[in-house]
Amino acid sequence: MKRWAVEQNSPLSKIASLLHTMRKIGYDGLPLCAKTLLGTNRDKVELDVLGEGTFMYIGIENNLCRRDFDFLQSSNNVTLDVGIDGLQLTRSSKTCLWPILGALVDHPKVGPFLIACFQGNSKPPNPDDFLMSFCNEVTNLRENGIKVGSNEVIKQFRVRSFTCDSPARAFVTGVMSHSAKNACPKCICTSEKHSFPVSVGIAQTDESFKNRQDISHHRLEYKNKETVLESANFGMVSQFPLDPMHLVDLGVMKKLLNLLISKSNLSVMNKKLQFLSKFVPSEFSRVARDFNELSNWKSTEFRPFLLYTGIFVLKGCSSEDRYYHFLLLHTGIRLLCIERSNNIGINIADQILQEFVKLFSTLYINERINFNLHGILHIADCVRQFGPLDNFSAKSWV
Ligand SMILES: [Zn+2]
Repeated sequence: MKRWAVEQNSPLSKIASLLHTMRKIGYDGLPLCAKTLLGTNRDKVELDVLGEGTFMYIGIENNLCRRDFDFLQSSNNVTLDVGIDGLQLTRSSKTCLWPILGALVDHPKVGPFLIACFQGNSKPPNPDDFLMSFCNEVTNLRENGIKVGSNEVIKQFRVRSFTCDSPARAFVTGVMSHSAKNACPKCICTSEKHSFPVSVGIAQTDESFKNRQDISHHRLEYKNKETVLESANFGMVSQFPLDPMHLVDLGVMKKLLNLLISKSNLSVMNKKLQFLSKFVPSEFSRVARDFNELSNWKSTEFRPFLLYTGIFVLKGCSSEDRYYHFLLLHTGIRLLCIERSNNIGINIADQILQEFVKLFSTLYINERINFNLHGILHIADCVRQFGPLDNFSAKSWV
């Protein structure tokens, strides 16, 4: 019943009314209060002023000490992925939220929970104040373990990775934004005339990051100083995989489609997409809108196009060269999505994607290799470390 109430997004008053009716007709195993049914946290949360905004810290242990997490009492340990992102609440105001979310690595079906949140008219004033409470708690949990479930059983605790889009990652790690010359978080390279190299440079590691080997990569205030995340001994390179949702779906696939669609093929491509929409199974969260709406497409529209429908829609609607080039991206990413992938498959995908980036600069000579295209060169490495793309994609958080 709880799952039904959450999925239907029912108002509390409606749920309470239903609970009362059920009690009247003889179901006495359910509570009468909607908040009790949903397990709403009733602890008072204090709000702090942070810069010109408001900050609320709920905490990791506070979340996991609830009855909902009793299943963790039989786990060997607790491993967490952390998601950080900035979200604009409405298009008509500057108000934005910067949540810090947690997700249990070994229990992917359990949805993410809120650890902390900043609300203001811009991003938090600096990453240190924003992440100080989080780092303090993680340091404590690493040393003393975390209490889980209503019986407060203590388990070992660690954070596996951070999922962020490029602006959020640059902000929390204290490095230059993705439009800067030395923006790549995974290798030491420099963009020329806003175009990144088509091959990887010397690998950036946690040690080279700490030693400031590529000093231009770091923001001015952190060239000689560590962020709180770095001081809390997080791997500033190894624990920040590139996010496939922003990098591949909303980044490279969107750019490629904008280049592949023209007035001459728009109508045929729309018809093909419309034809396919009749066969989209219910497991897909959304049927893609036509290409006139491309600027508003969500990642859930780009992703099926890349993985499934694109090979049909683009066939005969672009030059052979460009179709073959799209197939490289399609094949490389499909291989990296396989749940039981092995090193051979990942190595093949890696070679295919390296070829894709090199060919891009040949086929689209007036286009720059932007941050996302260069990032494709590193995505197979992230799969080697964290498993299939879905294991570390921001799509799991939305
Ligand atoms: Zn790089």
